[in-house]
Parts: sequence; structure tokens; C-alpha cells
Amino acid sequence: MTHTVPGSKPPHTDPALRSVDLAAENQALRARMAYLLEQAERNHSIMCRHQAFDLEIVGAGSFPELVGTIFRTLPIISELESVTLSLIDEDADIRTVMLKLGVVFEDFPDLLFVETIDELGFDLGRRNAYSAPPKPLLGMYEAQRHGAAFPRPPAGLQSVALVPLLRNKRIIGSLNLGSVDPTRFTPSLGTDFIEHMASIIAICLENVISNEMLKYIGLTDSLTGVYNRRYIDRRLLEEIGRARRQTYPISVMYIDIDHFKRVNDTVGHQGGDEVLREVATRIKAELRLSDALARFGGEEFVVLLIDADLDSAAFVAERIRASVAGSMISISQETQVSITVSIGVACLTDGDPEASAEVVSRALIAQADSCLYQAKEGGRNRVVSYRG
Ligand code: GH3
Ligand code: MG
Ligand code: MG
Repeated sequence: MTHTVPGSKPPHTDPALRSVDLAAENQALRARMAYLLEQAERNHSIMCRHQAFDLEIVGAGSFPELVGTIFRTLPIISELESVTLSLIDEDADIRTVMLKLGVVFEDFPDLLFVETIDELGFDLGRRNAYSAPPKPLLGMYEAQRHGAAFPRPPAGLQSVALVPLLRNKRIIGSLNLGSVDPTRFTPSLGTDFIEHMASIIAICLENVISNEMLKYIGLTDSLTGVYNRRYIDRRLLEEIGRARRQTYPISVMYIDIDHFKRVNDTVGHQGGDEVLREVATRIKAELRLSDALARFGGEEFVVLLIDADLDSAAFVAERIRASVAGSMISISQETQVSITVSIGVACLTDGDPEASAEVVSRALIAQADSCLYQAKEGGRNRVVSYRG
């Protein structure tokens, strides 16, 4: 195959010279072929690595596992010096839930949260429900423009791609890729590949976030925001096992609002709900971070205190009693009510080492409940501790 380029010399007519020409052309073609083959192999290998990556992130069972995989694997398989994620978290719902579920954000310095979509820096123009989704932004790194997406820019960062994370045309965040190669991300580069990658990451993120939210909802009481009975039952079993192995005391408190029926009768059910929220807040204020508070049902709360013997648990219970009784609870500007609580306290003693955690847990709650009953009998607004 020969081709003449306009302005170039015509092919030689002398057969000897023509064969030199052909040899050179042949060599050039071979080199080109070798280059294309190398590219094809490289692309194939990138595709295989990305397929493995896709499978890994699709299989991630939790939020930390997913973002951990993205930050660990994506820079390697894509040969990038920096990968960060910006997520829109308007009312800090994602952060609140993840924190409650024990996610340690310090482990993920490249996980960034923004309040609004505008902070992501995409060209949104005048958007409506039918607008095409924004395109990735590719170009040279500019500290002023891209600083928010790369708070810890690697040395020599040259070109970046900010890729919108889209779910049903809604932007949930941005995947930010950075390279020390200035030609890696240029505005003229095709973006199909990175858009595809971002769409899989967006699906996975949305899935794990909604799963974590469901997990959280399943363990909390929607009225007061404290844990629910299911959580405390499970946690108690875990803690009993741990406390017995490590021999430190754990205690439980059973708290019941006094004459709550009357409260409802006077201030209405919604007023009663407000009282429940405020009582939960006042209990919580007296607890340590390691303690767990749950609404056990109706107007009853259970507190699990870790590494607290009967005396220290009774001391905390007394503080809770005094805090609730100490000042009236405001239902509205005009309405305030006086509330008291009765509290039963019990501590896990060495007891029968053969008994199962379930049996021990039930016995512990029953002891606290019987003390609560005595507190009610004794006139309410008081603490009674279980003294075997
Ligand atoms: P005691 O001092 O003996 O504990 O009297 P009490 O009136 O508090 O006892 P009781 O357990 O008989 O009444 C609890 C009331 O709590 C009955 C129920 O209507 C009310 N209650 C249960 N759940 C809720 C709730 O979610 N919101 C509101 N507002 N009231 C609730
Ligand atoms: Mg009750
Ligand atoms: Mg009550």
C-alpha cells in the first residue's frame, strides 16, 4: 500500500530505489502495528483490571468497605496519583448516620462532603428536569479552582478530571481524578470511559448509603432519635459476653416516666411526645459516650452502662432523676409541665458462669424492672438499686 501526501515527492520509478522505499514503509508499518498491538494489550489489561474493580465495588457490603476499595484500588488500576470523592450531604444526614454506625471519617481523608451542588464546580447553566447531565470537567490543575476537590494534592499534580456522580440525572457528588501527567486529562479527551466508571461508583454509593440508612433506621427510635429495643437487646448480649471475658462490671437502668397517662391527658398526645423527646435528651446528657440509651417502649427507657458498678450506676441514675425533676419541660410558649421519673438499677455480678448470655440478659433487665416497681411503690421520683 502506498499513499502520496500532497507536496511530497512521487514514489521512485527506479525499481532498486522503489524497493528501499517499500522496505522503509514496511518497517514503519510494522512499528505502527507493534504500537497498536501494545495499545490494544494495554487497553485489554486496563479493562480487565476495571472489570475486577467493578466486581469488587459492587460486592462491597458497607460504606467504609466501598470507599476504602475506591481509594485503595482506583489509583493503582488507573495509574493516578490522586482519587478523591466529594459527596453532597445537605443536612449532614449521611455523616450523622455513618458516625452513629461507627464509621471513622479520619480513616478516609479523601472523602469530602459538600453542602450544595454548586460547591462541586460543574457547569450547571439553567438546569431543569429535562436538561442533559453535566459533562466531566477535564483540564490542567489549578490550585485555586480545584483546591476543594484535592485538599491534599500530590506533588506535581498536573491534570485533573472532575466527574459528576449521577443517579437518575440527579447529581450526588463528584469523582475527582488527578494525574502528574499534563496530557492525561485534556478538554479534548473522550469521557465515555470515566463517565461509565463514575456511573458504577454512583450506583454503588447510593446502594450502600441507603442500606446504611436502613440499618440505622432499624436500630433507632424515630420519635426520640435514641436507640430502640432491638438495638439494646442485641448490644446487651454482646456486652455481657465481653464483660464476662474481660471481667469489668456492666449495669442497666430501667427508667419509667411517672404518671405519663396524666401528662398525655393534660397536654395531649403531641405534648406527650415532646416530653418523651426532652426526657431522652436529659438522660443522654448525663451519660458517657460508651453508654447506650434506648427507648424500650411507650414511656420507658433502658440505659446500658459499660464498666460501671452498682454504686456508680446508681449515682448516674440519681443525676438523671434530679435533672428531669429539676426544671419544667416546655411544650409550647404557654405550656410547661413538671415531670418525674422512677429508676431501677441493676449490675451484672459474676453469677453463674454457665448461664447463657440470653438468660443473664433477661435476669439483669428483670432485676432492674423489679427495682423500678419498688421505686413506684415507694412514691415515684426515686432510684432503687438491686442489692441481691
Ligand atoms: P406510672 O407512674 O405508674 O408509670 O404511670 P403511667 O401513667 O406512666 O403508666 P402507664 O404505663 O399505665 O402509662 C403509660 C402511658 O404512656 C400510656 C400511653 O398512652 C402512653 N404512651 C405510650 N407510648 C406513647 C407515645 O409514643 N407517645 C405518647 N404521647 N404517649 C405514649
Ligand atoms: Mg410504663
Ligand atoms: Mg409510667
